[in-house]
Amino acid sequence: MVGKADVVIVGGGVMGCALAYNLAKEGLKPVVIERSDIGGEESGANGGGVRQSARNLKEMPLAMESVRLFAQLHEELGMDVEYVRKGNLRLCSTPEDMVNMRKSVENQKAVGLQLELLDRKQVLEINPYVGDGVIGATFCPTDGHANPLLVSYAFFKKAKSLGARFYTQEEVKDIVLKKGRVAAVVTDKQRIETDLVVNAAGMAGRKIANMAGLDFPVKAVFTEALITEALPPLFPQMLGQARGLFYGRQTLHGSFFMGGFVGTEEFIYRDGKPLFNFIGPAISRLVIEYLPVLKDLHVVRTWSGIIDQTSDSIPVLGLTPEVPGFVFCTGFSGHGFGLAPVIGRLMCELIMDCRVSLPINDFCYSRFGKGADHVCACKGNAACTTATALCPNKREWLKNI
Ligand SMILES: Cc1cc2nc3c(=O)[nH]c(=O)nc-3n(C[C@H](O)[C@H](O)[C@H](O)COP(=O)(O)OP(=O)(O)OC[C@H]3O[C@@H](n4cnc5c(N)ncnc54)[C@H](O)[C@@H]3O)c2cc1C
Repeated sequence: MVGKADVVIVGGGVMGCALAYNLAKEGLKPVVIERSDIGGEESGANGGGVRQSARNLKEMPLAMESVRLFAQLHEELGMDVEYVRKGNLRLCSTPEDMVNMRKSVENQKAVGLQLELLDRKQVLEINPYVGDGVIGATFCPTDGHANPLLVSYAFFKKAKSLGARFYTQEEVKDIVLKKGRVAAVVTDKQRIETDLVVNAAGMAGRKIANMAGLDFPVKAVFTEALITEALPPLFPQMLGQARGLFYGRQTLHGSFFMGGFVGTEEFIYRDGKPLFNFIGPAISRLVIEYLPVLKDLHVVRTWSGIIDQTSDSIPVLGLTPEVPGFVFCTGFSGHGFGLAPVIGRLMCELIMDCRVSLPINDFCYSRFGKGADHVCACKGNAACTTATALCPNKREWLKNI
């Protein structure tokens, strides 16, 4: 039993673990409550893409910083997370793809991303295995990939060694407010007194927000991925299709991870959980068109995952003056894995100091029209929307609301 905690994090996915690590590094003893296993939901189902290219431009500064942090994870966390930074090719097969990619390259370069539009000959120099239908691609040399199963675990292990406390197979059932502020978290096993709760619950983020009387638009997008048997190393880049129809990579073990949104075959699901794998064959057919070298490979395993897609496809981060002590860290809309190191650091900064080193205003809860713009006591930092329980300015700030 915990009794009392400075911070309770709901969710032991990659975000909850990355935040727990950062807070523990600062000397706190955060409590993480996870209803299944560490990295057991979206964070264990993903493709491992650590990508800046083809992101919402609002996320670009965060994605660039995250790429920098990924390069240090091995040393920082004391575990090899199989991070490979050898670029990302987004393959075009129609003239329309090329036109769209040209515009997109201009926009992304304008915010500082190193990105080129390549013709077929240039693509073949980087990846000689692409099919005849590939007429060009974008290439971002600083994109890459890592092993998602290792990343959450590495954050978890290091956080634990620094004093973070993790409770798995335990579900958060309620958030208690007192005078409108967070006062306690109730699980199916205990009640924890706290004045700070972080919603890092992935697809359950809306449900957790509802417990505190908050709400935001998010829907479940079902998707599927597969892994093949292994081949000797063919190419190290992350691959994607220009319209996002598939994406994938060769793992260090030699197998190929492939996922996609081809949408030609439907899921059957019960109680919100996918029952049968119907997208796998469609992904495979498409991948073979783009990478014929894989055509004789056996698929070893397929799985489905649920993406927490917000109405504008970017996450919800930070605080809201509506419920002091409630921190959003959710809604990553299918591309959160690559952001985890920077999100862990920024949410920690927000909680500890009430200021963040990169702007997160675009991701605030109030963009959905539910909260009011708020300037907290931490004047001079526009990124900070409201003070947290641990902020040195908190007491001052709380007097004012
Ligand atoms: C197939 C697939 C491929 C993807 N590929 C990529 C990719 O290549 N690159 C990329 O950047 N992103 C990718 N993503 C997205 C990425 O996986 C997510 O954005 C990221 O993992 C989100 O992490 P999270 O910690 O917010 O959520 P989660 O990993 O879902 O963690 C939330 C945790 O909260 C727990 N929880 C929920 N409710 C409660 C409760 N009441 N009490 C206690 N615990 C609770 C859950 O059990 C879960 O473990 C992909 C996603 C999928 C499904």
